[in-house]
Amino acid sequence: MANSSATRPFRVAIVGSGPAGVYAADILTKSQEVAGGDVQVSIDLFESQPAPYGLIRYGVAPDHPRIKGIVNALHKVLDRGDIRFFGNVTYGRDITLADLRSHYDAVIFATGATKDAVLDIPGIELDGSYGGADFVSWYDGHPDVSREWPLNAKEIAVIGNGNVALDVARVLSKHAEDMLVTEIPDNVYAGLKASPVTDVHVFGRRGPAQVKFTPLELRELSHSRDVDIVLYEEDFDFDDASDAAIRSNNQVKTMVNTLTNWLAEEHDGTRTPASRRLHLHFLHTPVEITGENGSVTGIKFERNELDGTGNARGTGEFIDYPVQAVYRAVGYLGSELPEVDFDSRRGVIPNDGGRVLGADGTHVPGLYATGWIKRGPVGLIGHTKGDALETIGCLLEDRLALPVAERPDESEIVELLESRGVEFTTWEGWNKLDAHEKLLGENWTGQPGLDVVRERIKVVDREQMVNISKK
Ligand SMILES: Cc1cc2nc3c(=O)[nH]c(=O)nc-3n(C[C@H](O)[C@H](O)[C@H](O)COP(=O)(O)OP(=O)(O)OC[C@H]3O[C@@H](n4cnc5c(N)ncnc54)[C@H](O)[C@@H]3O)c2cc1C
Repeated sequence: MANSSATRPFRVAIVGSGPAGVYAADILTKSQEVAGGDVQVSIDLFESQPAPYGLIRYGVAPDHPRIKGIVNALHKVLDRGDIRFFGNVTYGRDITLADLRSHYDAVIFATGATKDAVLDIPGIELDGSYGGADFVSWYDGHPDVSREWPLNAKEIAVIGNGNVALDVARVLSKHAEDMLVTEIPDNVYAGLKASPVTDVHVFGRRGPAQVKFTPLELRELSHSRDVDIVLYEEDFDFDDASDAAIRSNNQVKTMVNTLTNWLAEEHDGTRTPASRRLHLHFLHTPVEITGENGSVTGIKFERNELDGTGNARGTGEFIDYPVQAVYRAVGYLGSELPEVDFDSRRGVIPNDGGRVLGADGTHVPGLYATGWIKRGPVGLIGHTKGDALETIGCLLEDRLALPVAERPDESEIVELLESRGVEFTTWEGWNKLDAHEKLLGENWTGQPGLDVVRERIKVVDREQMVNISKK
């Protein structure tokens, strides 16, 4: 049935309040003005956590306040009052596709990615072998992970050569006191404080010109107090493809310069050794995590060489490193959503420019995707804006031909959630929790001898978050 939103607002549900969901809501709201006022929209944003902002709150490292500050822009969007927020509501558990279809003319999935991609090597199941995403969730105070994290290793391997590997390695190697200015919850500070770590080794498969870091994040490694960066001359191999990349790509050039400067500084003999070290190794492919009595005791790598095209090939030489913990940071993966087709290899909802595709490859009318669940877990927060623009463009193009919601009244979805006993949080509730967390930071009495100002301390427990939101 063709949509007749001329007599009522066009109703849209967005599932997921990370940057992709909020940008989509913002762009869609503004499209009313773009279309000369003829598109009246009414948007509801559903989020499984009691708090908004997705991976900005639960992924971006706590010692990245500038990036965390992007929430201020997202806050402004949601604070305008024209987009309703329903937190603590999980699609697939509290609301179904049929519910959304009957209450909305269109549904946009913006559910992102929260899981670790698989690394299938022997020993990955040993105690002491962890997913980077789980560790990130722990230090960022995600309500669904355990409060305890076993930080008892002195030597740690981090597998991966992207920014998440850098985050994990930086947080593992930093002194806990230097994390106190951030919003980390008390249990995270206590865990980091007790860590006996001395050496964190980051391993990448290819060479210094093939890393997936970004220059700023790489340079930041050298800002950690009392942590030396250690590099290895034999890893500085540049093939023709590396030389071409250094010439043609400024980011690559900057990062290779940073790394080679560090290598040179390391050998100038003027520095006082730090108590912790962060080693960057290249040209290493992990082949096995080794263990005793079910726990990690080491990791074996095959040494690689570059093949001329910038790819790595094994040399047949194997190296063992004694470590007591291994963190894999080999990428994130989106999770399957009930009643929507899923590409489990890529971890995305199959789509064409944001139009969700069914098993037969055709667009499922009224369903859209945006952000990491649309494109896969790569790219920065800014990239999700482009995703949202494309998806909303498709939605507006399709608008008049979409199936019409049977229960478009804004009050009906609230009644449905209430009738099911879903303890949803609202935008007003988030503002209360936000203020509460800031007050916890303000009232922090400190540690003897430490003069630290804390802007916020996160509340971690879901029930507590909901209770504070509902006060
Ligand atoms: C560890 C890490 C560090 C990063 N650091 C940076 C950085 O420093 N700078 C930068 O620019 N980018 C960074 N990024 C990338 C950035 O976080 C992503 O680009 C961005 O968050 C993707 O946005 P999204 O909205 O698609 O997904 P997400 O941010 O994952 O948001 C998805 C939202 O959907 C919700 N959701 C999921 N399933 C359901 C469901 N069934 N029902 C209801 N809600 C659901 C989730 O709770 C979440 O709130 C980092 C990413 C990671 C993983």
